[in-house]
Amino acid sequence: MTTEITAGTLREWALPEPSFDDDKEGRGHVLVIGGSREMPGAVMLAATAALRAGAGKLTMATAASVAPLVAAAIPEARVIGLAETNGGGFTLEAARRLGELAGKASAVLVGPGMQDDAATAELVHALLPRFAGTPLILDAAAMGAVRAQGEPHLLEEPKDMEHFAFREPVLMTPHAGELSHLTRRDKKQICDAPLEAAQEAARRWNAIVALKGATTVIAAPDGRQWQHQGGNVGLAISGSGDTLAGIIAGLAARGAPLEQAAAWGIALHASAGEQLSIRYGVLGYLAREISAEIPALLRTLA
Ligand code: AMP
Ligand code: MG
Repeated sequence: MTTEITAGTLREWALPEPSFDDDKEGRGHVLVIGGSREMPGAVMLAATAALRAGAGKLTMATAASVAPLVAAAIPEARVIGLAETNGGGFTLEAARRLGELAGKASAVLVGPGMQDDAATAELVHALLPRFAGTPLILDAAAMGAVRAQGEPHLLEEPKDMEHFAFREPVLMTPHAGELSHLTRRDKKQICDAPLEAAQEAARRWNAIVALKGATTVIAAPDGRQWQHQGGNVGLAISGSGDTLAGIIAGLAARGAPLEQAAAWGIALHASAGEQLSIRYGVLGYLAREISAEIPALLRTLA
């Protein structure tokens, strides 16, 4: 059975609200890992979105070459600069530095704006044991971890993927093109039967899979599944998915279980697109404008 994500569904999944005397730790510390010299903006979009979704504290970890720039653009964040590989990824030394934040972060998002698929897959595999027990969201290049078990030379080796599964469920947020790449299935096959494709991936990898598109479906490894229809084609823009991933991370940091954070995030992101299309028209609004819509929508949908 597929549950439609509606205002009613969301109300049943009430988000954790702060008490009047809560401090910033109480509303969750979100760690956003990503960005590269060529794509520093993705991680900025995600991090801003996490704060707009109500997270209390923000740490960002990004390429050392752009970290000061990112820190100046997001004054709310602590920004950690990570050593870079030649391909624009992070060296494994990053896993040690980030590991120091284990136990402090309430939710971790990895992937927006990351480059160097092999280094990124290795880093994710190194982070998994360090952040065991912390809600983890993998987006963009970080999802490539399911194609390689921490060994870059296996990236092009199809058979290894069959055996990979996360120890505890993480959230993955692919669009059809990414799921096609990760599963080596035809994109058309995925678009024709999105629920089946998401469900199969969820079971195989022990992940909650939010397969994004005009209709977004969420599949959990235990067989539960949801779908959401909304937003508009104006959301199909650079930075849109990074923003969505950040909203979800912010909600997870506040304490929402991953599938609920995903459902809320998808609905908020779509509604923000609808608001922006009223102001600007369906085409031409920017991904960076989505986040500012979120606080008012949180009030409306709650
Ligand atoms: P990404 O491709 O990672 O940037 O993510 C794009 C985001 O925009 C996802 O949240 C999609 O669900 C959303 N999106 C893309 N195309 C449409 C569409 N035609 N209608 C509504 N939402 C869309
Ligand atoms: Mg994306």
